[in-house]
Amino acid sequence: MPIYKRILLKLSGESLMGTQKYGLSTEVLGSYAEQIAAIAAEGVQIGIVIGGGNIFRGLTGVGRGFDRVKGDQMGMLATVINSLALQGALESAGAKAQVLTSIRMEPVGELYSKAKALELMEEGRIVIVAGGTGNPYFTTDTASALRGVEIEAEVLLKGTRVDGIYTADPEKDPTAEKFSQITFDEVYRRQLKVMDLTAFTMCKQNDLPIVVFDMDTPGNLRKVIDGEQIGTVVRN
Ligand code: UDP
Repeated sequence: MPIYKRILLKLSGESLMGTQKYGLSTEVLGSYAEQIAAIAAEGVQIGIVIGGGNIFRGLTGVGRGFDRVKGDQMGMLATVINSLALQGALESAGAKAQVLTSIRMEPVGELYSKAKALELMEEGRIVIVAGGTGNPYFTTDTASALRGVEIEAEVLLKGTRVDGIYTADPEKDPTAEKFSQITFDEVYRRQLKVMDLTAFTMCKQNDLPIVVFDMDTPGNLRKVIDGEQIGTVVRN
């Protein structure tokens, strides 16, 4: 039985590449879509924010002569491409999903508002909020914190390729240990990297717990939703 009624799921753009070096893996999209559709079928209200790092990152552009603001706008458009791809995959998996955009771009998607997002979720639709926060100099981590707080999600689920937060980088330090729970303050004190600081602080200040978990293992999303102890929970 799901322990959450409403969640905000953050997916990284980079994971959507799968084993490729760039772009979208239909396998990863299909696997994510099936897992998400399964929990939607149980009545969990789902908001999703996706990164764009598999296509373009603003900072990469700066090194190649792009202005940062333009580069970030390109990055935000990359998240729209990913959002449309996931919407398609979710529909193929039998779920109803709609893309709302943080930057006006009908008919690609309707402009995001809290009221519209809640209306769609109440109707049983998965809402994918595309275009980050709509502003340069931010990240999709911050977009997920912002939208999570706005839609009054009970938790922000950060689906990544690692299975939680460790005392040190487990790939470099064999003695690194995983936390099952940790407080926001302890993360600051140990200078651990969970999300960028803007996003992290937004969650702390608004008392939105974060669960970091490995989304690439099928079945894990369901386990998190059912309250099983996998990944790491960050709370006040
Ligand atoms: N971006 C932005 N404002 C936002 C969200 C994203 O300018 O509110 C841009 C930024 O250039 C970033 C890119 O979009 O590099 C892709 O997003 P992100 O890096 O968060 O994606 P991820 O690394 O999670 O794939």
